[in-house]
Amino acid sequence: MKLVILGRDGVINHHSGDAIKSAEQWLPIDGSLEAMVKLSRLGFTLVVATNQPGLARGLFDLDDLEAMHFKLSDMVETRGGSIAAIFYCPHGPDDDCSCRKPKTGLIDAIEVEFDVCAEGAPFIGDSLSDLQAALAKGCQPILVRSGRGEQTLAQLLSESQAGLEKVLVFDDLAAAADYIADHFG
Ligand SMILES: [Zn+2]
Repeated sequence: MKLVILGRDGVINHHSGDAIKSAEQWLPIDGSLEAMVKLSRLGFTLVVATNQPGLARGLFDLDDLEAMHFKLSDMVETRGGSIAAIFYCPHGPDDDCSCRKPKTGLIDAIEVEFDVCAEGAPFIGDSLSDLQAALAKGCQPILVRSGRGEQTLAQLLSESQAGLEKVLVFDDLAAAADYIADHFG
């Protein structure tokens, strides 16, 4: 199985304010849907791993989140691709859970659900916590400049954590998908 793990906000869709609170506010970044369709058609299994602390903060509820994720899956499916699953952390930073990235609980859950080892799989994110979670599981960390990516890139250059030199940087999901298609096929 060719697994690709993706962050959601800033990778697939635009950030907005402090949280995306509804399906109406959930707007894809140009080219991201097509990028997922391309990978999907090439036989990659696409799984989203996203921190959604807005749930813990009461900014939106599970119905809202499901509506956003239905919109995402539906937009990819109508274009001929598919999202295999969306894993989310519903907790806030003070909940001390094991799933909030940079912790690895979401990736652990993906491994169990799909009976797959995530080591070596591309993990595309826009934040340092994405890259750190990816590195902790031996995934190939990929940073996109979309979303908070430019900020993260600046952070990256000032961090001394081992492994961060392995991070690949692309303008957006479309560019990252092209690279993945060529190097992880
Ligand atoms: Zn959590």
